[in-house]
Amino acid sequence: MRRFEYLRAASIDQAIERLSFDPGAKLLAGGTNLVDLMKYDVACPTTIIDINDLPLGDIKETSDGGLRIGALVTNSDLAFHPVIENRYPLLASAILAGASAQLRNAATVAGNLLQRTRCSYFYDVMTPCNKRTPGSGCPARNGLNRNHAILGASQDCVATHPSDMCVALAAIGTMIVVQGPNGARSISLADFHRLPGDTPEQDTTLRNNEIILGIELPPAPEFQRYSYLKIRDRLSYAFALVSAAALLTIDDGVISTAHVALGGVAHKPWRDTAAEVVLVGRPASRGNFHQFASMLLSRSEALSQNGFKIELARRTVVRALEQAASRTPQSQSDKRVH
Ligand SMILES: Cc1cc2nc3c(=O)[nH]c(=O)nc-3n(C[C@H](O)[C@H](O)[C@H](O)COP(=O)(O)OP(=O)(O)OC[C@H]3O[C@@H](n4cnc5c(N)ncnc54)[C@H](O)[C@@H]3O)c2cc1C
Repeated sequence: MRRFEYLRAASIDQAIERLSFDPGAKLLAGGTNLVDLMKYDVACPTTIIDINDLPLGDIKETSDGGLRIGALVTNSDLAFHPVIENRYPLLASAILAGASAQLRNAATVAGNLLQRTRCSYFYDVMTPCNKRTPGSGCPARNGLNRNHAILGASQDCVATHPSDMCVALAAIGTMIVVQGPNGARSISLADFHRLPGDTPEQDTTLRNNEIILGIELPPAPEFQRYSYLKIRDRLSYAFALVSAAALLTIDDGVISTAHVALGGVAHKPWRDTAAEVVLVGRPASRGNFHQFASMLLSRSEALSQNGFKIELARRTVVRALEQAASRTPQSQSDKRVH
């Protein structure tokens, strides 16, 4: 049995102080990922700082017409919040594509942002893994890598980020608000999750002694068209092989904005704003969507078992854009792709 101390934080400052003083401490929100990792001995915190009493559970409009969402808002409360359903339906849809109702009732915004990879070698402490034990090696590179990265991987790590919510947040363009001993700062979602490089043990740019306070969404564009399309081995309760979050605005048949992010393909939600420019000013046609998908995936590389994901990603992007354009977003209750 591994012993750890349990502390129920009474204030944000107290949580930060404890994180600063005890580098082995971990914050506990819904616990649906951290507690699993502790059971597998992948995470061995010296102290658990339970943050569930902290005032981080609100959803509020911001002065610019956007939305501030507290770190402790549960995935269910967020997906079913009327403002999210009406103005950010892409986010609601992506959240509902993930996990199960019970998990979404417990899982929080910040926990979802910081959930760790589902690479089986990461979870198996009897095998090497550079993400779990830096410098020990990456058996996935030449081993079981069917679910692994096709973009942005490194020699040291080919793991993917498993979140659905974060893919929608990447497409929307989200800021993460964090606080440390020296005050608060905001990090764009694009800069929050990292590519693995030679330090795959660091999933994000959050510092050890910082706490996530919440996220900020920009004002939602009017008349947006969206779809979150998740392709997986089973129709429910499975992580994405590939997913695509598509947001379009179209005027008179011509695309005026296009935001597209991919999940299940890289160590972070994958978005290429330079490729999106190709779609702007063009008709919302299948040919243009194909051209965009080719650009988005131009740097993809297959491992021994996951070459199929490159074509799957291409088709998923095109289909998600078609669903968005035709205002027929992927249903998360009837998950079949029509
Ligand atoms: C069986 C199963 C299936 C799943 N399927 C999916 C799926 O299909 N799609 C999907 O997206 N997800 C899926 N999940 C993952 C689930 O969404 C995450 O476990 C959940 O979002 C984590 O949130 P939590 O609040 O429980 O986090 P915790 O487990 O409490 O914490 C996770 C991490 O975040 C840190 N943390 C929490 N709050 C803060 C904060 N405010 N500031 C700084 N650090 C913080 C913790 O220290 C910990 O390191 C699945 C999980 C399970 C168990």
